[in-house]
Amino acid sequence: MEYQTFVLKYAEIGIKGKNRYFFEDKLVKQIERVLKNVQGEFKITKVAGRIYLAADNYDFDETIAALQTVFGITGICPAVSIERDGDSNLPDYEHLSKAVVKFMDEVYPDKNKTFKVKVRRVDKTYPKDSMELGRDLGADIKETFGMEVDVHNPDILLNVELREKVNIFSEIIPGPGGMPLGSAGKAMLLLSGGIDSPVAGYMIAKRGVEIEAVYFNAPPYTSERAKQKVIDLAGVIAKYTGKVKLHIINFTDIQMYIYEKCPHEELTIIMRRYMMKIAEMLGVEAGCQGLVTGESIGQVASQTIESLLTTNEVVTKMPVYRPLIAFDKQDIVDISLKIDAYETSILPYEDCCTIFVAKHPVTKPKLEVIKKHELNLSEKIDEMVQTAIDTDEIVVVER
Ligand code: ATP
Ligand code: MG
Repeated sequence: MEYQTFVLKYAEIGIKGKNRYFFEDKLVKQIERVLKNVQGEFKITKVAGRIYLAADNYDFDETIAALQTVFGITGICPAVSIERDGDSNLPDYEHLSKAVVKFMDEVYPDKNKTFKVKVRRVDKTYPKDSMELGRDLGADIKETFGMEVDVHNPDILLNVELREKVNIFSEIIPGPGGMPLGSAGKAMLLLSGGIDSPVAGYMIAKRGVEIEAVYFNAPPYTSERAKQKVIDLAGVIAKYTGKVKLHIINFTDIQMYIYEKCPHEELTIIMRRYMMKIAEMLGVEAGCQGLVTGESIGQVASQTIESLLTTNEVVTKMPVYRPLIAFDKQDIVDISLKIDAYETSILPYEDCCTIFVAKHPVTKPKLEVIKKHELNLSEKIDEMVQTAIDTDEIVVVER
């Protein structure tokens, strides 16, 4: 069966009242963007709370894969659409019945299946109501192919929608859900080479937020391969967002300076405070409305609730979004696998935090104590932070 139409479903956007058009336009734009990279002739139309995609000379799998990267789409329904007969009438019953029978024949060569016809009559001018129509179409299918109806648990749920045109479809391929990209501002993601931060970035992007990212690199203690890994992980998010602007900040001097001047068991927490501070500065510069991290309560010493309080304190100009804060590791891994980040995340290259970590890092840092020890840095730290920002290496990662 070569489908010529896809009915694209989107859930949350539908309930946004008069903002609906804004969201729908963003969604259409994103669909156009991903289809630019797919061979075929496509035409998108927006009618009364529905988005239709007409497709010709296209590759089915490639098209579906592309649509599955568009946040906002909840379902992709390969469909047969029949236009109205005449100006204002829907197709007459004969025409409709023929189309439905043909659909079943072509899509399901194996007739040894149960089915149910579900009719939605949005256009109430149609002479038969949905119950009647469902029953009659069901009877026609049964008579033609000898297939049995099962109203409770059918193998095939055949949807027939009477709207501005008639849509016939049985398969609903899941989309990623969420909100269309570009409908909700921009955030700066602290992206490391681990499992958590790419998942956190994906989750926030899924809410329609544009993602810019920053990676704190510590050459020569971290390798080129560790950096490439982070670039590849930015690519996982770019698959959904088109591109990610990644800032690579050389953090070595700051790290060494903290190592030299502060108690070793506080190194990680103080480093994390400077990462946050620099990320916020970059975020302000880039016009972001928030920071994003992959932190999760209790996962490691630097993520106890006391440590989070201490790191959070340096960020004053925007909220820090931590979408994984209450997730168990396995739940994070599940998403990581689903978005194809996991294989990259578990590559064994060291990240900058593991080089100098103390044997017994503080797990309950006291803010006043940390701040007092940070005074040891006052001679050079501002200048070092400025240098780090000035030597920012920007990589634009495209899908
Ligand atoms: P991840 O899997 O995301 O690396 P993690 O369990 O290793 O997380 P931490 O190393 O404590 O956790 O880091 C917590 C968060 O801080 C990360 O999720 C990330 O958002 C940020 N972060 C840590 N290291 C870096 C880095 N080198 N560059 C950018 N962000 C970082
Ligand atoms: Mg990490």
